[in-house]
Amino acid sequence: MISKRIFAQIREVRLLLALTVGLGLAGGLVTIFEASFLSRIVNRAFLGHAPLSRLIGLFVWLLVAIALRALVGWFSEVFALRVALKVKESLRDQLIRRLFQLGPIYLRGERTGEVASTVIEGIESLEVYLARYIPQIALSALVPLTILAFVIPNDWVTAIIFVVTWPLIPYFMMLIGRQAEKQSKKQFRTLSHLSAHFLDVLQGISTLKLFHRSRYQLQVIRRISNQYRKTTMDTLRVAFLSALALELLTTLSTAIVAVFIGLRLIAGTMNFQDAFFVLLLAPEFYLPIRLLGTQFHAGMNGVMAADRIFELLDVPVQSIEGNHAEREVFETEWETIQFDHVTYSYREAEYPALSELDLKIHRGEKVALVGPTGAGKSTIMNLLLGLMTATDGIIRIDSQPLTPSIAASWRKQITYLPQHPHLLKGTIADNLRLASPECSFEIMIEAARKAGAHDFISQLPYGYDTMVGENGVGLSGGQIQRIALARAFLKDSPLILLDEPTANLDPESEMWIEQALRDLFKEKTVLVIAHRLSTISRMDRILVLNEGKMIDQGHHTELLSRKGLYHKMLTTYVGERGNYRDQNPVPIHHPS
Ligand code: ADP
Ligand code: MG
Repeated sequence: MISKRIFAQIREVRLLLALTVGLGLAGGLVTIFEASFLSRIVNRAFLGHAPLSRLIGLFVWLLVAIALRALVGWFSEVFALRVALKVKESLRDQLIRRLFQLGPIYLRGERTGEVASTVIEGIESLEVYLARYIPQIALSALVPLTILAFVIPNDWVTAIIFVVTWPLIPYFMMLIGRQAEKQSKKQFRTLSHLSAHFLDVLQGISTLKLFHRSRYQLQVIRRISNQYRKTTMDTLRVAFLSALALELLTTLSTAIVAVFIGLRLIAGTMNFQDAFFVLLLAPEFYLPIRLLGTQFHAGMNGVMAADRIFELLDVPVQSIEGNHAEREVFETEWETIQFDHVTYSYREAEYPALSELDLKIHRGEKVALVGPTGAGKSTIMNLLLGLMTATDGIIRIDSQPLTPSIAASWRKQITYLPQHPHLLKGTIADNLRLASPECSFEIMIEAARKAGAHDFISQLPYGYDTMVGENGVGLSGGQIQRIALARAFLKDSPLILLDEPTANLDPESEMWIEQALRDLFKEKTVLVIAHRLSTISRMDRILVLNEGKMIDQGHHTELLSRKGLYHKMLTTYVGERGNYRDQNPVPIHHPS
């Protein structure tokens, strides 16, 4: 019921947690004094017929106790929330770190929506668990013990009733709790499933529209939502039932105490003041464990979330970049990139995505990768980017093997232009400065000019300070490409990796991009996953890939004359063997 690893997290905030519990306990003590003052006042006023003037002192004490209780409660709350805040912060930090270590390759395989819901809602649901549930566990033992210490000398009969009835409550809670835990687990899983699916659908919405599948997806989402509703109702039913059982138990116990006190009052074996004092304390005795019961459900959710969070933190990182990331290993003077028998197999894949590739690229060379979908082009890029490590074989930069520990340093030599560049939430200037944080405004504009982005940026309402990314202004695919190109000009690195866009860009962007790429490639080493004839034919060397192997290489005219796969690809469509991935074949774009 309590996650051990959460306690390891709490270690750093132990003092705060102790303060929370300590103040909660102090609140319990003040309550006892309150009951004592109240019972004395009532006793003197009603049985002793004391005038108001003689009770003033006690009234003042009572008021002080009430005020103190409020104050102590408030502080206890503040500290509790502080505990939760710190732990949440630290977990969020660890999770994000881990996700960065796992890198884009892992996140592509995992369901991004599910991970997002763990990082966001999962961590939030820890708050109640940490701020209320955990302190309450301590208080539900400490406060009743303190009350018992005061009740024993006054009235041992009630003390016995307390001692006998108290353990029944946690016992019944445990019985119900087991059921609740099962339900909570189910609920959390369903919610994750729902978020994951929803995100998938949102991301693939255009594809779904194209294939007339949106109506079907609507049904799927409706079905999962319905399932979620059902599990939520089940969980709530257990929660309400357990609350009812709990209230019933504590009410009955208090009633038993009252009956015994009443009997003794009638028999005259107990004085009123003591009786009233004990009666006032009876509900307080059961209160902490009752509160624990009401927080149990929320606490359970927290435990489930914690489990998933730790599961994510435990995913083994295949290539820890560790602290080496700071080390500068590569100077810009390297001469060759060499693939030596490089094989890469994705986890759970039957065939290697790349097998025994030998490849040497010299500095300044411009190389195109061509091949049908699933041929292994992206795999080569990811390996060269150091995002994954070869399963077998080795990649060398000059004589230096490209290991995970130096990947970060290596990436400083690379400008990577993905097929769908991503703009981060922020201004356009922020996005451009990612490539060169210190650069002046003039240099930034210069880069934007080269990329053909300056004109449309200037026309935006806030120019370079326009917000983009989520909630930002909508830019066209071509415009985003041009911003990414400007970023590439700013970074000015010796090696350029480009995954050429296949989507039809607007003609204006197309023209700008083609011109910009010509500029960008000058004096650089270039490796392009090429889809356009205009790009391919310009390259020094073209590598033809198929099924993870390089089956041919050479210059455009040379390859074309051989009438092999290359010829076939340029004359028909790429990837008629649709058995690689359920993706559409990629057409080569002939210049019109
Ligand atoms: P290309 O970029 O040429 O289309 P890829 O390098 O993306 O080809 O893929 C090569 C092979 O590896 C394909 O068979 C593909 O299905 C497989 N593959 C790619 N990415 C993954 C992945 N994340 N997990 C498992 N298999 C993958
Ligand atoms: Mg690819």
